[in-house]
Amino acid sequence: MHWTDDHLLNHLYGISEADIHLDTCSACEARLQAMALRMRKQQVLAGPEFTEQDLAAQRRNIYRRLDGPVPSRWEFPWKAVLATATVLLIGLELSAPKPKADPGNRLMASGGDSRFYTEIYASMESHEPRAASPIRGLFEEQ
Ligand SMILES: [Zn+2]
Repeated sequence: MHWTDDHLLNHLYGISEADIHLDTCSACEARLQAMALRMRKQQVLAGPEFTEQDLAAQRRNIYRRLDGPVPSRWEFPWKAVLATATVLLIGLELSAPKPKADPGNRLMASGGDSRFYTEIYASMESHEPRAASPIRGLFEEQ
């Protein structure tokens, strides 16, 4: 009795054991060869087949990357942010208008209080309100 297609397929996939009939029957042998040829064509069309080892290696790679450190490109760039903030603060500090060196100290050192106030009034004279003149008199030497 000839092998059924299922029997031949099982033999192709290694599920069923070899039988003495296959060695003696050329018809079943030819059907088996044709099936094997069709199966190989299907495998070629289906593209590369991944073996258990390939899949296991891929799984190990994924687990290794999951357990490993976070790739540096995912870390928040604290160092860059701190460096940028520092540079900005220094820039603001340097560009902020600074009060000029206190002229009082220089004037006091060279001439004392009265000379200091006299120079101050001289520099402010152009926009001094008239109401301020009595006060100015307080500081003028007699
Ligand atoms: Zn047969």
